[in-house]
Amino acid sequence: MDFELRAVPKPKHKRFKRTAKQRGQITGDVYDKALERSGGYCERCGKGGYLQCAHLIRRWKVETETTVNDVAMLCGPSTNTGTCHNIIDYTRKGKEWAAEYREKLYKMNG
Ligand SMILES: [Zn+2]
Repeated sequence: MDFELRAVPKPKHKRFKRTAKQRGQITGDVYDKALERSGGYCERCGKGGYLQCAHLIRRWKVETETTVNDVAMLCGPSTNTGTCHNIIDYTRKGKEWAAEYREKLYKMNG
């Protein structure tokens, strides 16, 4: 088998970077902006109804904090197969859509 164990030294200092969980947190402000942008409709399929604020990027990949460009209002719940939130979380096609949409948002909003 080809693997190695890498010893990571324990951090000497107090954590200065926020945890992945903190970085992934969707603040009320981000939620409001996303909801406003969506106009109350799913940003992927355009359906109205039950929407969830979904991450377009894996939480642990968020570098500093989750911005409105990192999320989309999508129909949910994510636990139901066939909803857009489920699709972007669990399918390759959905993940590709999320990455592209995020790029588009960053281009639009800087
Ligand atoms: Zn949808």
